[in-house]
Amino acid sequence: MSLDLASELKARALAAGFDRAGVSSLEPLEHGPDFLRWLGRGDHAEMDYLAHRTEERLEPRKVLPGARSVLCVALQYWPLEEAGEVEGDLWPRVARYARGRDYHNLMGKRLKKLSKSLRSDFPGCETRHYVDTGPVLERELAARAGLGVVGKNTCLLSRQGSWFLLGEIFLTLELPPDEPLTDLCGRCTRCLEACPTDALREPYRLDSRRCISYWSIEHRGALPEEVRHGQKDWVFGCDICQEVCPWNIRESPPASHPDLKLPPHRQRLDLIGLLSLDAEGYREAFIGNAMQRARLDGLKRNAANAMGNRREERYIEPLINALQEEVEPSVRCHAAWALGQIGGEQAKTALEGQRRREGDPTVSQEILQALEALA
Ligand code: SF4
Ligand code: SF4
Repeated sequence: MSLDLASELKARALAAGFDRAGVSSLEPLEHGPDFLRWLGRGDHAEMDYLAHRTEERLEPRKVLPGARSVLCVALQYWPLEEAGEVEGDLWPRVARYARGRDYHNLMGKRLKKLSKSLRSDFPGCETRHYVDTGPVLERELAARAGLGVVGKNTCLLSRQGSWFLLGEIFLTLELPPDEPLTDLCGRCTRCLEACPTDALREPYRLDSRRCISYWSIEHRGALPEEVRHGQKDWVFGCDICQEVCPWNIRESPPASHPDLKLPPHRQRLDLIGLLSLDAEGYREAFIGNAMQRARLDGLKRNAANAMGNRREERYIEPLINALQEEVEPSVRCHAAWALGQIGGEQAKTALEGQRRREGDPTVSQEILQALEALA
């Protein structure tokens, strides 16, 4: 095993556009039993794909026949140089990682190019790369590679904070593994206290069934009534348990990844604009962006839900339009719910009118409940 070779590969990863790199061994994962317990409790909600191919997840050697090490990389997505930050009343709340270009695509292309150069320069070397996909517990591998340590909010945490994304290349080259970091949380419990939905039920345990991020991105159809208020005005993901982390509050040098900045055409898209998007407008606004994971109907549902939680009168008209014109029943359900939350004569009249016209029983039920809320 050559230290020089490991240093060279890490230097190549930095030259390929990543911010940090480390090497992990391929021993079975120490936290494998915790992962199985997490699945067993149903904490993964409806993300059944996480329960597939567990053998490879727990024994990374099985991911690529002949693999002998993993080159793990990190890409910092916040803070960014001249990020064009937009917060406040108008712009919908969106997790920072999803504001610019889709990182799967950005990091995947860089890893693919790096893998190709390794195969070419090291004859006989085979590679397989992943970004947040495949049967890989990448957070555990990255922790083993010294890129961070798992925090109580379940994010990987380093002394530069937790605003970074992970990718990895499985290699048939033998490389000496890096040293893992030691605990960075100590007695801090800020993330557990700050989570508005109690999704961090205990340190190091995330219950997806309570997490804003899960409901806003992964769930299809109308949101269950009991989670709607908890979603507040997030329309994609949630950053709260990272925002409060002392390691993220410290000043970190900004990364230079222009592709990850929020582009001007999406800066102009407020909740009203989001709710009224048609298929063409959606394609134009979100092409190549990670928010496509929630799909158009999911983003519109989330926008209507956020309006219901903000309870501002200026949202009444666009919500009435959605209630009357929107094709997707889950969006009409949320428009009805939001009108019931905001209230007022105009909202009530529109709900009563739509109640007579509505053909979908689930939407009719929502309208009834919204009218009851206004009674
Ligand atoms: Fe809680 Fe939001 Fe963190 Fe989920 S992402 S655990 S809802 S603070
Ligand atoms: Fe750890 Fe505190 Fe950060 Fe939570 S907020 S991850 S407990 S350091």
